Formats: sequence, C-alpha cells, structure tokens
Amino acid sequence: KAKGAGRKGYHIYESTSRYAHVENFIHELALANAIEQEEFELYYQLIYSPQQEQVVGAEALLRWNRAGAGVVSPADFIPITEQTGLIIPIGYWVIQKACRDWHQLTRHYGSGFKVSVNISSVQLSEPDFVERVIEIARNEGVPAHGVELELTESSVIHNFQQVEQTLDRLRAVGFTIALDDFGTGYSSLSMLTSLPVDKLKIDRSFIRDMNQSLFSAMLMMAAALDMKVIAEGVEDAAQYQMLKEMKCWGLQGYLINKPIALELLVQQAMPQMQ
Ligand code: C2E
Ligand code: MG
Ligand code: MG
Ligand code: MG
Repeated sequence: KAKGAGRKGYHIYESTSRYAHVENFIHELALANAIEQEEFELYYQLIYSPQQEQVVGAEALLRWNRAGAGVVSPADFIPITEQTGLIIPIGYWVIQKACRDWHQLTRHYGSGFKVSVNISSVQLSEPDFVERVIEIARNEGVPAHGVELELTESSVIHNFQQVEQTLDRLRAVGFTIALDDFGTGYSSLSMLTSLPVDKLKIDRSFIRDMNQSLFSAMLMMAAALDMKVIAEGVEDAAQYQMLKEMKCWGLQGYLINKPIALELLVQQAMPQMQ
C-alpha cells in the first residue's frame, strides 16, 4: 500500500526494506544523544606516498557504535545527520578529535603528517565554519598545515561562489583542501580550474576498472592545475605497482591498511611496500 501512503509522507520505504523509515527514525533519535553518550569513534586509514616510501597522512573515518545495534557505517547515518542538522555538532566533534589525535599520529609517522577530515556541504555553508575550524585547531595546538579538509566533488558544485570564498579563507591560513571521490560528480573543467583545491582524490571506481590512459590524463590535468593526486581504494599489488610507476603522489586502500582505531594503528608496524 506504499503508493497511497506517499501522500501522507511515508514514501521512504519503497527501497530496500519496508521498515527503512522506522530504522531511520530510530537512528535519528539515537543520533541526537550519540555525542554525549560517547558513541562516536574515529577510525584511521593511512595515506602512503610511493615516491617517498612513507606515510604522509591518515584519513579520519567516523564510526558510530549505536547502543544495542553495533557499528553503523557512515553511509547509513551521515545522510540522516545532514537532513536533521546534527552534522554540525558531530562535524565539529570529528574535527576536534582528529586534531587531538594528530599529536600522537605525528609523533609516530613524522613531521609533515596531515590528518584528513571529511566535511559535508552542510557544514561548509555554516557562516562561522572557518572561524570555528581555526579556533578548534588553535585550541588543540595543531598547525593549520597539519589538517586537510576533504569535500566531495558534488558538494562544491552547489553554491559554487560561496564555497570558493570559504575555501580561499581556509587556505589563506594554511589548511589544505582535497576534492574527494573525484570523477564521480559533475564538476566541469572550468569549475575545476577555478576551484581553490590542493589535491584530487580519484574515486576508487577508477582504480578498480583501471584505464591507464584515462588515469594518466587525470594525472596530467592535475599537474597542470598544480594539484596532487591521491588514488583511493588500492587493493592489490598490481594496482600499487602501476600507480607507483605512473608517479601518483599518494595512495590509500586496503592494501596499505583498512580503517582501524588509533590505538591499533600506532601499534602496527610501518607499512613496507615494494
Ligand atoms: P570517503 O571519504 O571517500 O572514504 C573512503 C571510503 O572507502 C571509506 O568508507 C573507506 O573505508 C573505504 N575504503 C578505503 N579503502 C578501500 C578499499 O581499498 N576498498 C574498498 N572497497 N573500500 C575502501 P567508510 O569509512 O564507510 O566511509 C564512507 C564515506 O562516509 C566516506 O567516503 C565519507 O564520504 C563519509 N564519511 C566518513 N566519515 C565522515 C565524517 O566524519 N564526516 C562526513 N561528513 N562524512 C564522513
Ligand atoms: Mg574522504
Ligand atoms: Mg573518497
Ligand atoms: Mg567515498
């Protein structure tokens, strides 16, 4: 009876489960208290430079340990937090925790290390976002160049002019910006040439279905725009070798490590790639 129900607003349950809307509603209620219940945790995935043969950074990936429900993946709760506005406090929590963890990570992996944080377009459009980020980093004693902000290609194409200004202000004080999931959105070349961005993170679908000439064209384009390239989703040694030979600046993926808790990450041996 899903059709008629749509009018009353119950149009969510057509997709995977007819109870998906109930599940979302329960998530929504639980998310409102998740920060104070200390249910959030950051996992880290290393970013490795094949040229320098060393770790250059790590991406913070949010995990939610919902009481009684186990670990919920960000794909299942980030959209809810964006719709409800909860992404604002949660997003600041992520930035603060990542800054706090930066000290231990930098001691372990060496200077020049950057912690990367995913930022939603909803966060970017907060009028005081730039000031808050500056304040958090300062309070945690982290230099701006120790923090990279990741924005998806699709989140920057709306409100392009406002985004451009926000990114300019962040970069002016030393934060770096990466365009996440690059190649899956609809940004045009003209947009890309005027976007104040330091890095392109090529979406893992391009690594999986590797087309060498397409990938080298992306590397050339990035070089022309003075941007570095990080390949996402590197899972096997053949992909690693190819990307290394193509002089890709950075790599991330299960081959190097799966996202894990900070305590486990810093216990593990340094990645030794060939
Ligand atoms: P993302 O930023 O593109 O992060 C990469 C995702 O790919 C992560 O999924 C990671 O676990 C997964 N991944 C990494 N290497 C491999 C690989 O070799 N193979 C495969 N198959 N997957 C790999 P995760 O942690 O589930 O996060 C999904 C997305 O949720 C992220 O995509 C990001 O867009 C979003 N997200 C995560 N944390 C946050 C956060 O704190 N704030 C916001 N706004 N979004 C977040
Ligand atoms: Mg990311
Ligand atoms: Mg990505
Ligand atoms: Mg992604």
